[in-house]
Amino acid sequence: MTANSPSTAAVFEADHGTARADLAAAFRWFARLNMHESVANHLSAAVSADGAKFLINPRGRHFARMSAGDLLLLDANDPSTPTREDAPDPTAWHLHARLHARLPLARCVMHLHPKYATALACLEDPTMYPIDMNTMRFFGRVALDSRFSGMALSDSEGDRMADLMADGKSVLLMANHGVLVVGATIAAVFDELYYFERAAETLLTCYAAGKPLRIVSGETAALVERQWRGYGQLAIDHFDNIKAILDVEEPDYRR
Ligand SMILES: [Zn+2]
Repeated sequence: MTANSPSTAAVFEADHGTARADLAAAFRWFARLNMHESVANHLSAAVSADGAKFLINPRGRHFARMSAGDLLLLDANDPSTPTREDAPDPTAWHLHARLHARLPLARCVMHLHPKYATALACLEDPTMYPIDMNTMRFFGRVALDSRFSGMALSDSEGDRMADLMADGKSVLLMANHGVLVVGATIAAVFDELYYFERAAETLLTCYAAGKPLRIVSGETAALVERQWRGYGQLAIDHFDNIKAILDVEEPDYRR
């Protein structure tokens, strides 16, 4: 792998080394961004063609301490997983196993409760209005789960989320809860979640100003969303730079 290789190009490596290191880097950086919460929340990456085998964080480990070797390798089709000695957090299992099993194109699934995205999810109208380039990036990309009914402690909750994401949306804004992002690579999903939090921060800052929003037309918002899709290299460069910083400052994330 070179520094500029796509981050999931080697997901079929026997030891899933690249996927493990990339996912560990995402955990470490979300902790630096204060987008983590206690030792909760979960990030996963598929490592088989059908998506059923995936890596995910072990229960109870802080994002800032996550290393490549800590990640659990699970099989979405193995019903014994919740009872094994090192079982993952139950909500992590029910959400991620069903999403990976049902959406094989969703190679990476990241779920957080970051401050601004979660605040947006708690508004009666959680629409990401297109008011700047970051908010416009998400025009038409966001599915809303408006039926919060407690923690996701059953497969039916994971299946419900998969149904909501089945039409190719990248972001699931979970009302009264948080946000979940799916995509083709760890770098792409990391970048999408990073930008969603930035966009939510801008929108909520405008709300806090108490002035009317300057919302652009749907035509302009759709154009900018398409233009963002032409910037796929940005996510790769963003993530490669994060790994380069971690390689100097906390290289044990690869351990
Ligand atoms: Zn959650």
